[in-house]
This record gives sequence, structure tokens and C-alpha cells, in this order.
Amino acid sequence: MLAQRIQAVKPSATLKITALARQLKAQGKKVINLAAGEPDFDTPASVKEAAIAAIREGFTKYTPTSGIPQLKEAVAEVFQRELGVRYRPEQVVVTCGAKQALYNLLQVLIEPGDEVLIPSHYWVSYPEMVRLSGGTPVEVRTDPKEGFRLKADQIERAITPRSRVLILNSPANPTGAVLDEGRLKEIARVAVLRGLWIVSDEIYCRLVYGVPHVSIASVSPEAFARTLLVDGVSKSYAMTGWRIGYFAGPPEVVEAAERLQDHSTSNPSSISQRAALAALTGDQICLSEMSAEFGRRRDFLLQRVLRIPKISLIEPEGAFYAFLNISGTGLTSGDFSNRLLESAHVALIPGEGFGWDDHVRVSFAASQEELREGFDRLERWIRSL
Ligand code: PMP
Ligand code: GLU
Repeated sequence: MLAQRIQAVKPSATLKITALARQLKAQGKKVINLAAGEPDFDTPASVKEAAIAAIREGFTKYTPTSGIPQLKEAVAEVFQRELGVRYRPEQVVVTCGAKQALYNLLQVLIEPGDEVLIPSHYWVSYPEMVRLSGGTPVEVRTDPKEGFRLKADQIERAITPRSRVLILNSPANPTGAVLDEGRLKEIARVAVLRGLWIVSDEIYCRLVYGVPHVSIASVSPEAFARTLLVDGVSKSYAMTGWRIGYFAGPPEVVEAAERLQDHSTSNPSSISQRAALAALTGDQICLSEMSAEFGRRRDFLLQRVLRIPKISLIEPEGAFYAFLNISGTGLTSGDFSNRLLESAHVALIPGEGFGWDDHVRVSFAASQEELREGFDRLERWIRSL
């Protein structure tokens, strides 16, 4: 018999379908993968070189659990420069991907039975991480008419005496929704007043299209004191496999999360840390090139979807996802995705895992040719329904 805590946890829909699409491709099927939650670009050459140099120099031993000082300094500097928030390097913890940062934070902030507010649309792992911490995920429905952007009064209505944490994700996976400063100020006001911690997942902060990214940690000193700011190099620098994320926050939470990491994974890979340092401190041309290309793909997708019957979407302002409304087809998101994969060999992710069963997630982290072919197939298939 397995432990109760794991029995309640679902497999990751995003990882499952991405793996299935890869498997079909390996079998020689011409699958168009619009499921992947990772950039299709290669890691920049200068970053790879830094990792190779680290190996050659023998930088292959344990490092301090929370990361090498140079990387923590670089993260603090980037947070100050890009997000306008000032942390000391000791307030930064480097983790094995942003996923571990989020997981560890929930472990140290949640008591069994505590409620964690999760605006939905949400990334598939949030509710499962909350369950693994013994907490209860509480879904806060956002309004498609508001572009799925969270409003302070929606949180206010969901708060109970057990509420302890609010998870924010702007730009959001799976909708690409971005929260502007006005909204963030209102949300922060409610969270601070009601004594919530804010776990702010800003992993897509460098991928915005025509709107600024604002961190909730920057909107007031009170919000800063209650926020755990999570980011990483996976998405911005096409480094998903290197497993480097990080967070910053108040010293007592940072110290507790460090203790947890001491007894679980210890430090993230020393080699990957050197690579992440090169990414954050090197020239940032690769970043602007990648984000400009994502912007072009997004524009293509917006135009293309207009010509397809029975589906619609809300313009994504950030990240590299679009959340398609498929209610016009009358299919559930699982049926839609399975049938599309079987009949037209196009992989995308059912919205069910993100809290919306009449939507599917399309990733535009695929080349323009693949997007064109993927949407041609999607259109033919929908017209044949
Ligand atoms: N947060 C969100 C919203 C994500 O989409 C992802 C993608 N896996 C992560 C966190 C985790 O990123 P990482 O690869 O750095 O663990
Ligand atoms: N975050 C990405 C996604 O949503 C990667 C897969 C995962 O870790 O969930 O697809």
C-alpha cells in the first residue's frame, strides 16, 4: 500500500502528453507537437561553453545548498534591475528548477488543512503540490470576459480563516494573461490585509508582448514583505533540462526552505549553476531574439485561429501559450485532444488539468512551419467533425 499523500496526486497532464507526442514522433509518425511547455530553441552557445569550462575546471562537487554566491548575487541583481525589487544575495535560494522552488515553499508555508488560493486557469502542478504539502487547493475562478485576469474581489470572496497562501502566475500558463500594476496593487492590498503569503511564479516574466511585466513584490513595501518571488532560467534562456530555478523572499522563509533543501536534494547541479550564471550575466541578445520570435508566432496564431470555425481564444499577452475555447465543438478537452492526436497527429494539452474542460492549451514554442502545418491540420479536422 502506498502512502496516502501520493495516492491523491494526479500525473502531470503536460508532461504526459509531451512524452506521448515524443514517443509517436520516435515511431516515425509525423506528429506536430504543440503541447510542449518549453522553448524549441537550443540553449545559447555561451551558456554551454560555461558548463563545459566548469566540468574541465573540476567544478563538479557539492556547492552550498542554496547555490553559489556569484549566482545568488546575479539573481539579486537581475531582480533589482528588471523587477525593481531589492534583495540581499542571502535572501536568494537556487533550486532544481522553479518547480522545486514552488514545491519547497509550499512545504514550509502550509500546515495540514490550510487553504491555498489558486486562480484558475492554473498550471497543472499547483494543486498537486498543495496536496503534497497537506494543504487544500481552493480554486478561484477568473472570468474569460476579463481575459482570465484575476481581480481582488474574487480572492476576497474565496478567503476563509484557513487561507494562508495565494499563488499568482503572471504571465500565466496556460492563458498568457498578464496582470497589470493596478490589479496587482489591489490584489496585494487584500492579501496583505488578510495575512496571506503570496507565492508569485514569474517564470515567464521576460516573455511579454507589448505589455510590461510588473512583479507584485514591487507594488508596495507590505507586498514585498509577504511575497516569495519565483523565477528561473528554464523558459527565458531555453534551459529546461539544466534544472535551475530560484526564489527570493523574507529571511525566515528562505532559511526554512534552505533547511528543507539541505535534507532533500542539497544543491542544484554545480555545472548547471555555472551555466545559469553565464546566462544571467552574459549578453542578453539571445533573450531578445527568442522573445521577438515568440511574438511573431503569437501574431501568426492569432490571425490563423480567426479562420477556424468553432474555436476562439483570448489574446495571450505573455508566455508562449494560447488557451483555445473549444466549446463550439461540443467535445470535452480530453476527447478533443485525444481525437486530434489520433486523427491528425497534432498534440496539444487538454484544459481539464488547468481547471477548464472546454479549453485546450496550444504552445507556440514550435517553429512557424510547424505552427502553420499544425493549424492547417487542426482546421481540416475541425471542419470534418
Ligand atoms: N511554473 C510554471 C507556470 C511553468 O509553466 C513551469 C514549467 N515547467 C514551471 C513553473 C517550472 O519550471 P522549471 O522547469 O524551472 O521547473
Ligand atoms: N511547465 C511546462 C508545461 O506546462 C513544462 C511541463 C511541466 O513541468 O508541467 O508544459
